[in-house]
Amino acid sequence: MSREAENTGFECGRCRRRVSRQSGGSYRNHCPHCLWSRHVDVAPGDRAADCGAVMEPVGVDHSGKKGFVLIHRCTACGAEDRNRLAPDDDMDVVIELQRPR
Ligand SMILES: [Zn+2]
Ligand SMILES: [Zn+2]
Repeated sequence: MSREAENTGFECGRCRRRVSRQSGGSYRNHCPHCLWSRHVDVAPGDRAADCGAVMEPVGVDHSGKKGFVLIHRCTACGAEDRNRLAPDDDMDVVIELQRPR
């Protein structure tokens, strides 16, 4: 796959829907439908991780000015990552994540 194609979108590793890379001008790294991500970045957008496994959304944090932050955990290596919510993320799924399990 060319670098250009990678930038235009990706297929969600969980729900298999096509996800656009861009959301309101900001870089997106997770699926807006199920919120799952993929372990491809060490720092956001750098694609420096060679893991490549899917990352499960394990929680939501609300940290001051940043607003809601999604916490992802890699299903393969256990790495955790924090990502800001995108404006078009499915809020029903976000609310579901905030319930105690
Ligand atoms: Zn998805
Ligand atoms: Zn990983």
